[in-house]
Amino acid sequence: MKKITTLVLLLVFTAFSNAQDTYLQCGKIIDMESGKVWLEKTVVISGTKIKEIKKGFVSGGDADVVIDLRASTVMPGFIDMHVHIESESNPRTYVERFTDNEADIAFKSTVFAKKTLMAGFTTVRDLGGSGVNIAIRNAINKGIVVGPRVFTAGKSIATTGGHADPTNGRSHEFTGDPGPKEGVVNSPEEGRKAVRQRYKDGADVIKITATGGVLSVAKNGKNPQFTIDEIKAITQTADDYGMLTAAHAHGDEGMQRAIKGGIKTIEHGSYMSDETMELMKQYDAFLVPTITAGKQVAEKAQIEGYFPEVVAVKAREIGPLIQGTFSKAYKKGVKIAFGTDAGVYPHGLNAKEFGYMVEAGMPAIEAMQSATVTNAKLLGVADEVGLVKAGYFADIVAVSGDPLQDISQLEKITFVMKEGQVYKNELKP
Ligand SMILES: [Zn+2]
Repeated sequence: MKKITTLVLLLVFTAFSNAQDTYLQCGKIIDMESGKVWLEKTVVISGTKIKEIKKGFVSGGDADVVIDLRASTVMPGFIDMHVHIESESNPRTYVERFTDNEADIAFKSTVFAKKTLMAGFTTVRDLGGSGVNIAIRNAINKGIVVGPRVFTAGKSIATTGGHADPTNGRSHEFTGDPGPKEGVVNSPEEGRKAVRQRYKDGADVIKITATGGVLSVAKNGKNPQFTIDEIKAITQTADDYGMLTAAHAHGDEGMQRAIKGGIKTIEHGSYMSDETMELMKQYDAFLVPTITAGKQVAEKAQIEGYFPEVVAVKAREIGPLIQGTFSKAYKKGVKIAFGTDAGVYPHGLNAKEFGYMVEAGMPAIEAMQSATVTNAKLLGVADEVGLVKAGYFADIVAVSGDPLQDISQLEKITFVMKEGQVYKNELKP
């Protein structure tokens, strides 16, 4: 009897210890840490994490799954530091602000989230929306919605009439006087309150609009819109809560205030001067280029009626500057964090940014590192995201060709795994 019990226990134990693992047989793996390419390895995945990386092509026991990526180049899932998961620009955008309810926004955002993941972006930083961005992050984490891991700013923070004032351009009847809760502040005290409100709402990061912007219904696309004291109050409070800070900035003066005020990532950077590039290095701030969005708004501004005229004028002027500024900043040694402003252009095309970065003079491997290890470090998850490495989340993507030779391969992702689960495998026989 005792023998039988022992046998049963042993069988149960073996069953558990032999829980199904996945063996990814990889022809090439790009190691983002060293920038080197590994040949013929097998990545063993157990649950949501990478268990180990073995030499050669191996398979496990009968219960294990083998996935053949022997003809592919394998990389960690990419991270986009600037998306708007809730929205996608179209000619009706300015009307939808009056017609869409939260539920309408939520349904659309599920589609955008899925497109983003299928494009090989397994993590994103969402830089501002209505608050649905917090709900979709939660829904993705619970497995209800398919999408990337989301770090979200919730609602952006602006000043009255500033780029992210949600009531810009409305008739007086609908304008009201939004305050810190809605993301509009006009003093350091209100700045602190807005940050704490976002923490309470469940946001992960903080976004401010330090200068005017292109898509808001307002005349100036580059003027400074915060005082340095307001910015400092916001960044110091964000630090208290461990929240990473980002500032939308086109104009140079607003950008300088943001950097000196302690903001960690500068979004767009369109009119960044040489002096400001030096300041970026001195303060260890990162530029998030968003070249794709710049090109998109410049192109759409040529279509009559696509944007309100006040927006079209700014789009034609500012959009085309971004790639040149990125090129200059990169060559001057400013640190770059990959980010695209997806939502300003259609979601799922995020990888186009890689091509624009390489075109502007950045080597392919550095562009890929900016979208993996660099961004993981900024988000505080460098020990579990951004590398194909034992102990890390099994966030893994693959392409058929070699992106080091032809960066546009990254626009043709054939395999996507997030936390050990396969979402896309076009190589399946
Ligand atoms: Zn944006």
